[in-house]
Amino acid sequence: MKAFQLLSHGDPGTFALQDVPELAPGPGEAVVKVRACGLNHLDVWLEQGALPMPVTLPRTPGSEVAGEVLAVGDGGEAVRVGDRVVIQSNLFCGECEFCQVGEESQCLKGRLLGVDCDGGLAEVVKVPVGALVPLPAALDFEAGAALTLAASTAMHMLTNRTQVREGDWVLVIGAASGVGSAAIQIAKGHGARVLTTGTTLAKREFGLSLGAEFAVDPADPAWPSQVRRHTGKHGVDLVVEHVGGRVLEQVFACLARNGTVVTCGATAGRHPGFDLWPFFVKQQRLIGSYGRNREDLRRTLEWAEQGRLRPVIDTVFPLAEAAEAFARLRRGEMRGKLLVKP
Ligand SMILES: [Zn+2]
Repeated sequence: MKAFQLLSHGDPGTFALQDVPELAPGPGEAVVKVRACGLNHLDVWLEQGALPMPVTLPRTPGSEVAGEVLAVGDGGEAVRVGDRVVIQSNLFCGECEFCQVGEESQCLKGRLLGVDCDGGLAEVVKVPVGALVPLPAALDFEAGAALTLAASTAMHMLTNRTQVREGDWVLVIGAASGVGSAAIQIAKGHGARVLTTGTTLAKREFGLSLGAEFAVDPADPAWPSQVRRHTGKHGVDLVVEHVGGRVLEQVFACLARNGTVVTCGATAGRHPGFDLWPFFVKQQRLIGSYGRNREDLRRTLEWAEQGRLRPVIDTVFPLAEAAEAFARLRRGEMRGKLLVKP
């Protein structure tokens, strides 16, 4: 079978479409025919060798997978051959104290699909059966792949790590990103008033089209005060932040008293500094978020099935042109998800 593999780290790294051995499921595993696989910033870090964990090469990237079950190993009777599924990319053990209470995102033996094991930029992928979630009939494979990681990350941030409430002011960073485009819709769906950011006019207008009522340019040094002014100086109650770096420092300038920043990703920097004095005086919170639980992913697909959350897809590439998809990802030009279809 064909797999698009990273052979050596770099910026850009060296990739090749290779013939690799066919996959057979072990006990508790399933082999899934990949019908669509999304790319995200994790893939760039993998490419650059910039992840804080060892990676064995060659490695097949790809953590946002939708497909059909091809074969199931012993003990994997929860799914059947032919089932339409998406894959929860933060693979979990199912046995530790966190998995036992449905907090798979905290798994003590968590592994990342496409980093710790081969991912979905291939004709076939092998995962534990527990990582499979049924794809509702109303959603096609492209929608499933576009939602499985980015949108479920947003669902986890807004409904598990924090609880967005009706009437909240919510600032969503990066309207055109996978997490941002989903977070706007999820916050809006809970009755929040949403503000967002975008580095171009097109991205800001896109955020407004998804339901945000105000969009600012993060390159404008005055953007935090623009946010404060729009909220009548109250500030935002909740910030959905997935960039880190300087942006994470700046969001505190528009955060309300008793407000919460929930953060993941840190694509623009993992070592921000911020002033603790106003932070504790205003009794604010900074909450980390990682991956998603099975329940977050199930609810994400349910929202999409009900038409309350639409996947945002930028471009779909065939597997043979996965290198082109990576080039577009590096340039950061996309609006929504980049997908690859084997
Ligand atoms: Zn576990």
